Amino acid sequence: MKIAIIGGGFTGLAAAKRLLEAGHHVDIYEKEAKLGGVAASINYEDTKLEIFYHHIFTSDHEIIALIEELGLKNQLKWLESKMGFYIDGKIYEFGTPISLLKFKPLTFMDKIRFGISVLRLQMIQDWRPLERITAKEWLVKHAGEKAYKICWEPLLTSKFGEKHDQISMAWFWGKIKLRGSTRSDAKTKEMLGYVMGSFEEVGTKLIEYVQGLGAQIKYNSFVKNVEFIDDHVVVHVDQEEVQYDKVLLTVPLPVVGHLVQGLSRHDLQTIDQIEYTSVICSVLKLNQSYSDIYWLNIGDMDIPFGGLIEHTNMVQDSRYNGKHILYISNYMFETDPLYQAQDDQIKAEYIHHLQKINPSFHEGWIEDFQIFKAKYAQPMIKCNYSSLKPAFQTSIPHVYIANMTHIYPEDRGMNYAIRTGYEVVDVMLHDSR
Ligand SMILES: Cc1cc2nc3c(=O)[nH]c(=O)nc-3n(C[C@H](O)[C@H](O)[C@H](O)COP(=O)(O)OP(=O)(O)OC[C@H]3O[C@@H](n4cnc5c(N)ncnc54)[C@H](O)[C@@H]3O)c2cc1C
Repeated sequence: MKIAIIGGGFTGLAAAKRLLEAGHHVDIYEKEAKLGGVAASINYEDTKLEIFYHHIFTSDHEIIALIEELGLKNQLKWLESKMGFYIDGKIYEFGTPISLLKFKPLTFMDKIRFGISVLRLQMIQDWRPLERITAKEWLVKHAGEKAYKICWEPLLTSKFGEKHDQISMAWFWGKIKLRGSTRSDAKTKEMLGYVMGSFEEVGTKLIEYVQGLGAQIKYNSFVKNVEFIDDHVVVHVDQEEVQYDKVLLTVPLPVVGHLVQGLSRHDLQTIDQIEYTSVICSVLKLNQSYSDIYWLNIGDMDIPFGGLIEHTNMVQDSRYNGKHILYISNYMFETDPLYQAQDDQIKAEYIHHLQKINPSFHEGWIEDFQIFKAKYAQPMIKCNYSSLKPAFQTSIPHVYIANMTHIYPEDRGMNYAIRTGYEVVDVMLHDSR
């Protein structure tokens, strides 16, 4: 079969690999000048760096297997990481039982309840009953109102804003369960995986591999629409119209709604019902380390961002000529005025908050400040998502979709993008038997 894949992120590349291995002809259309999607990197201090912070967990089996298959095993390093929580003007270590005991904002009894609720979550195997209730309902009931307000509400709000109380407990379970499995025992710090030279190394090897199997990669190719005509699917790109036997779109779900002509009312309703949050991610190059924490959650609602990720507290700064790299993560709805703001305004808004968290910080530490945005960064997984989750098949014959909305109950991630790419190909090949 002659198949078009629209979107050259990890889902599209993984699907291309499987289709080519099954003997099909594949063209990949990507609107950008390079592949990688939201996992793309830029040139940085003589190496590469993701525009959005990235790491993997020990439970990310698909990507680990792929890294090994592509001959990159030696570049994948498992690194200790330290998590923190900023609240009441202080940075606390967070994420281990010992750090919980030292966490002053909760009383001893609150901590016990909090700890038991996390253990309880990690022991749950069947997430299905959890999808009927919100994370807020479950956490208030089991961890207590105070622990919810102090610890969990800021985390949920930092990703989902004012809609944080609509998020399903099944999604939250997926996140906690996977994080729990990245520690070998309760005392150990979390081990996170990183491919030296950035995850672009994986993308590059994958591109070489699919090209070796005959894939045509069409960069700077913005697909305008996809329609079904006379038993073929026609892809309209630039001034061209190209016919395919099947088309797979790996673009975000709302983009599917714009691109595919003649979708059924049911498909359009599904697209309408699944919301995404957007992200503004700033990448700061500092001449000093901001703190000793890799992942700092911000529990102070007056601070306009939700997390500080000091990449060089996971990967050695010597890999970046001794510079310290700090990401500022800020999820919001696309309609938020800050999302529309100019880079200078965003920077100005952030500086004094960085000083508030670390009073010794000053602007002179910043050597470079870049801002990246993703409109479709994180789907909102609400209650009973199983019944909302889109199928891989659309209502248009031979047109398939696969993207972050197909990942459930786990949270989106490169590992699951790869798994989704493989899964959609199974369905496409099964349908053509
Ligand atoms: C801030 C942030 C942090 C993250 N951190 C992590 C992490 O630590 N670990 C982890 O595993 N995952 C992380 N992720 C998630 C991970 O990057 C994604 O789940 C994964 O890369 C998604 O891949 P994808 O191929 O499904 O989608 P995308 O990467 O979005 O790919 C879709 C592609 O389609 C292209 N496209 C869109 N419209 C068109 C069109 N009309 N024509 C042609 N091409 C088009 C886009 O340019 C893009 O390349 C993070 C994501 C974000 C946003």
